[in-house]
Amino acid sequence: SLAVSAHQLTKTYGSGENVVFALRDVSLSIPSGRFVAIMGPSGSGKSTLMHCLAGLDNPSSGEVYIEGQNITAMQDQQLTELRRRRVGFVFQAFNLVATLNARQNIELPFLLDGKKPDASRIASITTMLGLQERLSHKPHELSGGQQQRVAIARALATDPAVLFADEPTGNLDTNSGRSVLGFLRTCADEGQTIIMVTHDPAAATYADEVLVMRDGSLVDTITSPTVQSVT
Ligand code: ADP
Ligand code: ADP
Repeated sequence: SLAVSAHQLTKTYGSGENVVFALRDVSLSIPSGRFVAIMGPSGSGKSTLMHCLAGLDNPSSGEVYIEGQNITAMQDQQLTELRRRRVGFVFQAFNLVATLNARQNIELPFLLDGKKPDASRIASITTMLGLQERLSHKPHELSGGQQQRVAIARALATDPAVLFADEPTGNLDTNSGRSVLGFLRTCADEGQTIIMVTHDPAAATYADEVLVMRDGSLVDTITSPTVQSVT
């Protein structure tokens, strides 16, 4: 089944002579359990594409489907509900709550949903991400890489069907970056769909395929990427 698909997405900013095509007629289909990397030069439309696929931004035209549901046609409340139940996000600005410690930040999505935190899932995720010793620390007491890993743990704690990650290893050293990517790879092998924006060819090798953006268009799809094929 398809986790995410897009049909002829176009997104413009401005109008007349100043119009910018952030996306031009982008169509794609991402099956469940696939790990997809989106690459391309700065300004090529990667963030806009991710935001439209995740329902955080509206395309100017075209449709996005998440698990077969047309999110472009949804009411705000219905979309918010779908996002909260089925979708996880990791963004560059971590959006951790400064007054809560790492564990409380990771448990937050459950509390917002009126659910009891899944203690065993949280324990296994934080162990795999090497965070066991940092759970009682607040964000300002954590390194950038640790904050990034807390944001990833929070996004995955509720077991979302689709995870969107913008440069998830951007602030990590090589070793913790590899452990995060290996973890995302395991999640995909277990059926989670991962959609990641990255500039790093080494990170892209963990993905099943790379979607290459240029000037608002999807210009290439590279399956089983190698460092050579994406540089
Ligand atoms: P990338 O993520 O690949 O760097 P973006 O999706 O951020 O690319 O941007 C694609 C194009 O759309 C760029 O030309 C950018 O300047 C433009 N753009 C993005 N967001 C806005 C906005 N809010 N207003 C005007 N132009 C924007
Ligand atoms: P990224 O590093 O993820 O590509 P950018 O620095 O390009 O992000 O953009 C950061 C934010 O600024 C995004 O929300 C994007 O929509 C917005 N943005 C990008 N380009 C423009 C622009 N030309 N005018 C207004 N907003 C923009």
